[in-house]
Amino acid sequence: MLWVAIAVAVLIAVAALAAVLWPLFRPGPAPVLVEDDRLTALLQRKDATMVAIKDLEFDYRVGKLDSEDFEKYDQRLRRQAMSIMTQIDQLGPENAQLDVTIEQEIVQRRKVNGVAPAAATVKVASRPAPAPKQAAPVAAQGGQRYCTNCGVPADATHKFCANCGAAIAPA
Ligand SMILES: [Zn+2]
Repeated sequence: MLWVAIAVAVLIAVAALAAVLWPLFRPGPAPVLVEDDRLTALLQRKDATMVAIKDLEFDYRVGKLDSEDFEKYDQRLRRQAMSIMTQIDQLGPENAQLDVTIEQEIVQRRKVNGVAPAAATVKVASRPAPAPKQAAPVAAQGGQRYCTNCGVPADATHKFCANCGAAIAPA
């Protein structure tokens, strides 16, 4: 199994080389000629958040995260990115060109890094709509009245539920 050892060694060497060379060729954020320190800081934060989103996707794809954790952190990071971009927008209309959606930016970064889009799409579980509240205070079933609070059958003459004490509307 010598070839396995060689393959592993080559992989490690390539990874190390890539780690060293990556910052040199990495496409940095577009140069922004502003003296506003706050904007610069926001842009750096946005960039860091985008990198974090990308790293998270990678971790999820290689199986370091289950879909539940991925979704949780992904949504948190995206909220953070949105908040930062909102703050950038608020700094001035001259930064309007920065109004790129997060999705577009992520797609663009994927292309730059030559990483294929995630094969597994995470579906956000849609919450079932809450059941409509019962309009009628009394569920009439063949003349039988029921407490709308606990569901225990109520005597026709009773104004209050014998079980829980809730008021029962007259039939
Ligand atoms: Zn009751």
